[in-house]
Amino acid sequence: MTTEVRAVSAQEMLDLWETGRARHPVDRAVLMLAAADRGLAGEDLPRLPVGVRDEHLLRLYQATFGDPIDGRATCPECAEALELSLGCGDLLDAGASNRLAGAELDVREGDYHVAFRLPDSTDLAAIAHLDDVDEARSVILERCVISIAGPDGATPRSLPEPVVSEIAASMAVADPHAEFVIDLICPACNAGWEASFDIASAVWVHVSTHARRLLLEVDALARAYGWRESEILALSPTRRATYLELAVG
Ligand SMILES: [Zn+2]
Repeated sequence: MTTEVRAVSAQEMLDLWETGRARHPVDRAVLMLAAADRGLAGEDLPRLPVGVRDEHLLRLYQATFGDPIDGRATCPECAEALELSLGCGDLLDAGASNRLAGAELDVREGDYHVAFRLPDSTDLAAIAHLDDVDEARSVILERCVISIAGPDGATPRSLPEPVVSEIAASMAVADPHAEFVIDLICPACNAGWEASFDIASAVWVHVSTHARRLLLEVDALARAYGWRESEILALSPTRRATYLELAVG
């Protein structure tokens, strides 16, 4: 699989926002990929391992909005709201890519030999409504375990903890971008904690903020010059900004 990410155009940004705003976050991630990454043409996007998906989304973000990517976090101790600014390059370097899209992995632990695949967007959609972390993990296991050789009657839910830990560790090595964990320190109370950074939702926030700004620009320029939406969106960002200055100046 190759990466041929290009920047999302103004017209595509509005289309994405219009289609994606009523959708589930998991669907939005797939929509964004389909819009910007030709290297993924022909891939079954919902079935891409989550880390591979998020790696492509980060590259899409970089190509469209530049570096760094902004995000938010809340201090677990004092509820202080933190604004984060993270380098896309640093995030992408965080783990060596070891892509195994669609591949089967396996672990041997004790009497068990378990074959499984990596979680993808369809698995995330299946646990999206669950608040219970343990139940969410069980559902992921049920969906991703392909076969179990071991004691009679073993099921994904009855696997002993050491086996489950081995599976989780193996998934993390094979798909290192599935979770971006960052160390944070609260500026208000000095508490330190590890937060996981949700790439797909951070990218969506930028898409939707940018789309709203584009609509305001279309509105202002259409009023000032009588141009059509498609004409205004086809202008380069520099020309749009300059005409806007002239229109309000
Ligand atoms: Zn705090």
